[in-house]
Amino acid sequence: MNTFNPADKIQDLQYFGEFGGVNPSISDSSTYTFLSAKTMFDTFEGNAEGCYLYSRHSSPSNLYLGEALAAMEGTEAANVAASGMGAITPVLMQLCNAGDHIVSSRTIYGGTYAFLKNFAPKFAIKTSFVDITKLDKVEAAITADTKVLYCETVSNPLLEVADIAGLAQIAKKHNLKLVVDNTFSPLSVAPGKLGADVVIHSLTKFINGSSDTVGGVVCGTQQFIDDLRNVNDGASMLLGPTMDSLRAASILKNLRTLHIRMKQHSHNAMYLAQKFEKDGLKVVYPGLESHPSHKLYAGMINQEYGFGGMMTIDVGNLDKANELMELMQQKNLGYLAVSLGFYKTLFSAPGTSTSSEIPMEEQQEMGLTDGLIRFSIGLDNDIERTYQIMKQCMTELNVL
Ligand code: PLP
Repeated sequence: MNTFNPADKIQDLQYFGEFGGVNPSISDSSTYTFLSAKTMFDTFEGNAEGCYLYSRHSSPSNLYLGEALAAMEGTEAANVAASGMGAITPVLMQLCNAGDHIVSSRTIYGGTYAFLKNFAPKFAIKTSFVDITKLDKVEAAITADTKVLYCETVSNPLLEVADIAGLAQIAKKHNLKLVVDNTFSPLSVAPGKLGADVVIHSLTKFINGSSDTVGGVVCGTQQFIDDLRNVNDGASMLLGPTMDSLRAASILKNLRTLHIRMKQHSHNAMYLAQKFEKDGLKVVYPGLESHPSHKLYAGMINQEYGFGGMMTIDVGNLDKANELMELMQQKNLGYLAVSLGFYKTLFSAPGTSTSSEIPMEEQQEMGLTDGLIRFSIGLDNDIERTYQIMKQCMTELNVL
């Protein structure tokens, strides 16, 4: 039986404010004083437990949030960052040296793809992009220089599912680090428990859930997190993608309701996916039996939190997709916007937005068609009402 319930782990963590407040005090300081010079020196060396030096290194507010996210992922430690990319890029720079090689899923967030394809080669770090659902292809792409296997649990935007346990076996066999971006599936999947070495989130999305900030986190072993924060050669410390304490405090408060929100996102997305599939639309949702990895994913998730809030519908071509998104926005069904995890449904055509960094021919090869709409389904109270209005929009534009 799976006894790891991430929401309980978060709930059990209590932090009090200075005056007995039910939320922890916010550390509104960039630097910290010491009564003795010796303690300052020890803190620099990483040998003074509970002391703070400078907020790019660590701050109480960031440590509280990191601790809660480590508890959620079941890892020893975590380090928060100013954005999801501010979490992803230091991890890859920390794990790879010049001459090293990465094997990555070809369907990943456009920014990560652009970093691997266009930026990392400046430091002689090369990446092979593969179909992550084919474990034999993944293994065949590994070379003597490979150091990292990289994927998203559920990929942006195609919603392909990575077999984390299978990939972890390959990583172990070849002595690689398996790095997993779990942004689309918080609480539902705990990649660390399935064998991933490092788990990353863009906190910008479901975890914060209010589309008011960007943020990121890296979850891993205490050793790896210490390495990232090392004053001499830690990528997070030296590249400086530090989250502000005020933001860390507000994200921690939003994290407290993540379990309730994820259940509602998943419930609503499943409802719409089933209805629209029945209506004859080309719907992709991991909760549908028609999804190629449905069975695998059903075995990976904590059923309580469901199959997630992300769904795609292919309406044939970009003009139709744009017309439909504009009409749905007019009818107040949601917003034509990138990002995800908001209370309101968000929709965009990834080929021309969040995945536009991927060249057109590669988009075609991976099945990213220009009529594809990516939906982040909101927390709507009456999803049948939402379905009826969406259906009217689709009928009006002859999508249905
Ligand atoms: N990972 C995934 C799966 C994403 O969708 C995104 C952003 O859309 C990121 C990472 C990057 O996160 P951020 O925008 O917070 O830097």
